[in-house]
Amino acid sequence: AAAPLTQSAVLQPLEIANGMGNCVARDSAAVLPNLQTAGDALGNEDTFLPAAGPRPIDKYMHLRELRETQPAQYHQLMVHSTEKVMPFIYTPTVGQACQEYHSLHIKTRGLYLSLEDRGNILNKLRSWPQQNVRVIVVTDGERILGLGDLGANGMGISEGKIELYTAAAGVDPSMCLPIALDVGTNNAALRDDPDYRGLRQPRPSEAEYDAFVEEFMSALKVWQPHVMLQFEDFGNHNAFRLLERYQHSHCCFNDDIQGTASITLAAVLAALRVRGGRLSEQRILFLGAGEAATGIATLISYCMHRREGLSEEDARRRCHLFDSKGLVVASRKDLQHHKKPFAHDTPFVGSLLEAVRTLKPTALIGVSAVPGAFNEEVVEAMASLNERPIIFPLSNPTDLAECTFEQAVSWTDGRVVFASGSPFDPVTDSRGIVHQAPQANNAYIFPAVGHAAVLTKAKTIPLAVFLVAAEQLAAMASPQELQCGSLFPSFSAIRSISSAIMAAVVQHLVASGQGSLPEGWGMPMGGDDEGCSTDPDEGACDWRHMARAAMWNPP
Ligand code: NAP
Ligand code: MN
Repeated sequence: AAAPLTQSAVLQPLEIANGMGNCVARDSAAVLPNLQTAGDALGNEDTFLPAAGPRPIDKYMHLRELRETQPAQYHQLMVHSTEKVMPFIYTPTVGQACQEYHSLHIKTRGLYLSLEDRGNILNKLRSWPQQNVRVIVVTDGERILGLGDLGANGMGISEGKIELYTAAAGVDPSMCLPIALDVGTNNAALRDDPDYRGLRQPRPSEAEYDAFVEEFMSALKVWQPHVMLQFEDFGNHNAFRLLERYQHSHCCFNDDIQGTASITLAAVLAALRVRGGRLSEQRILFLGAGEAATGIATLISYCMHRREGLSEEDARRRCHLFDSKGLVVASRKDLQHHKKPFAHDTPFVGSLLEAVRTLKPTALIGVSAVPGAFNEEVVEAMASLNERPIIFPLSNPTDLAECTFEQAVSWTDGRVVFASGSPFDPVTDSRGIVHQAPQANNAYIFPAVGHAAVLTKAKTIPLAVFLVAAEQLAAMASPQELQCGSLFPSFSAIRSISSAIMAAVVQHLVASGQGSLPEGWGMPMGGDDEGCSTDPDEGACDWRHMARAAMWNPP
């Protein structure tokens, strides 16, 4: 029997088609962040923002230092200017920070657990200064963004991501712990670098690795029974296995698989508000067949099945994957386990262009980390098949995107419905219309989902949670925002966006029996299945206010 699913958020279609006439450029500082401006917004930047160097990595180092020396001011900046500071503590800058982590002389804030701690992990956790931890982001550094195996340097990604729990969803920073599992690295250049701080050995066998992770996961349950754990940037052979193993016994999720799936489903649902049509009518082609692609395809087909009544099999058949060897089809003998649900009985084709021509997708989603893969021919083919082609080059960081925003706009004559993984500047097309490039940033989703799981002391985080979160977010862009190309409400409103997602997720976790009602919440006004309005400013919903009130604020 299917697990219960709470009612979906109401997705209002955009009524004025193609009315882009009044699309004006947003404040360019929001797109090209500048620390000085971020400080200006608070009025007293001089006291805590000494001149930072011009390079993003200097700003990254400066923010780390500020966190260390003046935490109150740092958190003021994080909470009140999240959108402007985020690119420096998170993607794209965090990619460079991880590559250079060993040579930047960084004072690590998180906890390293290495193979040498075997047998002693629980003791190590018990002697850590924070003893009230509720949220953990953990990586083993094997697939950092699209940058490959960075070993112990991956600590930078756990440290960067966990900051968003506080900034975007108000988890008390003293309850947040970034962890890096140091199991060695297959990156020989790093192993040979005299400044490298991790174990100088190749990654272990699967059996040795699994035993180590098992000790960690069991120790966590003893140490902090209600902790919520986010797996981040694991290599895909481990990511899928660990998620399968722990998702039914621990309160955990994998952000690369499930968080990405949720933000991308939200982007697709919002795109359908712009161009019309039902989700179950779409044909979706993915470039890439890894964590992101199979995670997204799984959630999209789950949504088609649970919300629009397609059979599971028919729903999966609307998603096609294309990997490094070509189209994923049933006749291939080389397919890894995670690709098989999407290996359909269709003829093999070896080029992406050919796949577009034969499958006639309505949406093309890039999660391959192959820059330039959405070339002019491919994008033009999408544009000739669709009045409003959905094209999402999601690979990070910016240099790895399958195409740029400018290319997508110009090769489709401005008809593209676009979202990217890393931020792009707005583009003015030949008619003078300014198009915004929405960033399908997981940070819209994971902090709110994680905080809701913490508040309800959730036993597990079922897949339906990521559907509920996506629907809530997809409902929230205003008609004006949709018209100008933004699929999401501005990130500057992230705390009110997060409170709406938290309310929806709490409701689902409680209704499905995975979590308990947070103390003092009561049932939402208007009955237990009524839910909240999709408008975050329409104050009628108690639970959004409760979620907002549960957020930590800097002193
Ligand atoms: P992954 O599990 O390693 O998967 C990468 C996939 O790309 C694999 O299926 C691989 O094929 C495929 N690939 C590699 N070269 C290719 C080529 N030349 N042609 C076609 N496919 C090719 O990595 P992931 O976690 O899915 O992440 C992939 C990218 O998505 C990264 O850049 C990441 O930063 C980005 N991402 C973005 C978001 C977001 O925007 N919110 C979230 C998560 C991830 P094989 O299977 O044949 O090896
Ligand atoms: Mn990631």
